[in-house]
Amino acid sequence: MSPPIIEVFDLTFDYPGFRALNSVRLSIQPGTVTALVGPNGAGKTTLLRCIAALETPLSGTVRVAGLDVYEHPRAVHRLMGYLSDNFGLYSDLTVAQGLAYAARSQGLPTAAVAPAVHTTAQRMGLDDKLHHLASTLSRGQRQRLAIGQAIIHTPQVLLLDEPASGLDPEARSALASVFKVLQAQGMTLLVSSHILAELDEYSTHMLALNQGRVLEHRALGHSAPATHDTVERSLRLEFVADAASVAPWLQAQAPVRVIEVHGNAVEIGFFGNATAQAALVRACVTAGHSLVTISPLAENLQQSYLKSLAAQRAGQQPARTPA
Ligand code: ATP
Repeated sequence: MSPPIIEVFDLTFDYPGFRALNSVRLSIQPGTVTALVGPNGAGKTTLLRCIAALETPLSGTVRVAGLDVYEHPRAVHRLMGYLSDNFGLYSDLTVAQGLAYAARSQGLPTAAVAPAVHTTAQRMGLDDKLHHLASTLSRGQRQRLAIGQAIIHTPQVLLLDEPASGLDPEARSALASVFKVLQAQGMTLLVSSHILAELDEYSTHMLALNQGRVLEHRALGHSAPATHDTVERSLRLEFVADAASVAPWLQAQAPVRVIEVHGNAVEIGFFGNATAQAALVRACVTAGHSLVTISPLAENLQQSYLKSLAAQRAGQQPARTPA
């Protein structure tokens, strides 16, 4: 498995009189798209700003591509694009001028600016608007221009804070397609949003925050790669008979968190790779539990998110998060 592209160690951030992030630890694999979700005030924007080295935490470390973001902010900014929730555009610049300005700010050599403007405008579907002023664009087009400015230097990592807010369904769907293309080109995306259905279209992972802590960090069922062992995956185990008696035994196994029991099936959160999963199957059989099937659970983002919030409110064991 490749080394994580984003690593956050024990990050604590205080606003005056208020702790917004509390010992946050997480790691994100390259090429993934992580939906950053959580209730209002959970700390999503603060976390994105800390990862982008725009805030100085009370304690903790953040590394992007192995670089400490607080020690090497400029080097990190060359690897990263960031779209803030209240992005600003220069209204009196045309699309081409805005993109060229962003390219120069990112230190692109003069000869590379025009090709970067052209490629980015095409990527963002703005090539027919190059000579239009930003002030004359629709909200969706302005959003795409802002994302274009954030990716003009083809960063490895793209952080987006509420990129789809205020967009109509068609513009949101177009934006989702853009994110899929960026991921296919190898970019790692961390996207905060409250529009879960839309995040679900392109996210491979969910990172749920609540009250400044990581509530859950998991691969989503439809994309769970068995090779990953730094995030939890949902699995469904089906037995020959009623699974109620197997659940306590399963819960006692090291990488397992029992989520729900339905009749003969148990849904678990599993924090392990393919080898650990094979070991669980062997342990089940050795212990005399008649396991029929074990399969990844296709659970959508909304279901995962609501479940983890409900589990936290019920005072259940918190989900495992990457070490
Ligand atoms: P939302 O979904 O509403 O955008 P969020 O998850 O992005 O919320 P943050 O904006 O990171 O949350 O805020 C986390 C907490 O920190 C909130 O309780 C907020 O009130 C508080 N906070 C944010 N900015 C400041 C500030 N400048 N001074 C004091 N407290 C702040």
